[in-house]
Amino acid sequence: MERILEVNDLHVTFTTYGGTVQAVRGVNFHLDRGETLAIVGESGCGKSVTSNAIMRLIPDPPGKITKGSIIFKGQDLAAYSEKKMRNIRGVDISMIFQDPMTALNPTLTIGTQLMEGLKEHKKITGSQAKQKAIEMMDLVGIPNPEERLKQYPHQFSGGMRQRIVIAIALICDPDLLIADEPTTALDVTIQAQILELFSTIQERTGVSIILITHDLGVVAKIADRIIVMYAGKIIESGSKRDIFYRPEHPYTKGLLNSVPRLDAKEELKPIAGTPPDLFSPPKGCPFTARCPFAMEVCDKVYPVSEKISDSHQVDCWLQDERAKQLMAAKSLQT
Ligand code: SF4
Repeated sequence: MERILEVNDLHVTFTTYGGTVQAVRGVNFHLDRGETLAIVGESGCGKSVTSNAIMRLIPDPPGKITKGSIIFKGQDLAAYSEKKMRNIRGVDISMIFQDPMTALNPTLTIGTQLMEGLKEHKKITGSQAKQKAIEMMDLVGIPNPEERLKQYPHQFSGGMRQRIVIAIALICDPDLLIADEPTTALDVTIQAQILELFSTIQERTGVSIILITHDLGVVAKIADRIIVMYAGKIIESGSKRDIFYRPEHPYTKGLLNSVPRLDAKEELKPIAGTPPDLFSPPKGCPFTARCPFAMEVCDKVYPVSEKISDSHQVDCWLQDERAKQLMAAKSLQT
């Protein structure tokens, strides 16, 4: 399968009056063509900063990519100038944000907003641009597209506006679509329709998708692979099956235990405590203060990444043979 994105040892910081926030601390992952990768974690874990870094939308200052590479189709975007990035954004890589109302300009018709990117980046005539806009409206399921191109955002419902935002993101046929909490502002029925739409679009266009979300329900519907982030690091990654059926990191298990389920007999268990201060992140495992299995080594040394299978990787000292023996001995005593 063709690898379209490879993020290596990415570090992003934000300099503030209070000090330097280490928002992303050595993130590594890849994405293949036609694949959907979900990045999940609590607010402030670094998932949106990671996606903004790929788009080079980190405001500098105060933000900065201090280390690492973002290899997109063989080119390192981390080294690109702003001018070069302007030719990539919206053309090769597109982004969908959370709130469709703020993503659309209320003073311009949908047609103008849809064709804006096309006219800027592709050498096509006005009638070709209009034809493409109609095709995109049709692809995202907006009825009577020719007429609706003349309308303004306020004349559409929330779900329809999100469909238009998706159409705008896809109109230049990007290779990569980054969707940052794309369904958070929508009610559940519309949410399901939009997720279904992502799958249909991917089948038809072969676009690769990075989905940023805190909602594991959304992930379960459309992701192929999942990355779990905590305190600026990837603490577990695997296929959807690995993460949902064989989670290994105590934080991933905590996240899954806090998801409401129709068949659940027990009460939801929130993860107690709060993430560490990223002004001075801990040397060892950042989950130590909240982890029920924390050992002496945990807050002193960051765990070695353990490969559980070809698809599944976890950063936790519990995977160390010595910890496994200790746990086994403890369970024999009880
Ligand atoms: Fe818990 Fe230690 Fe594993 Fe961190 S490394 S998750 S503190 S057991």
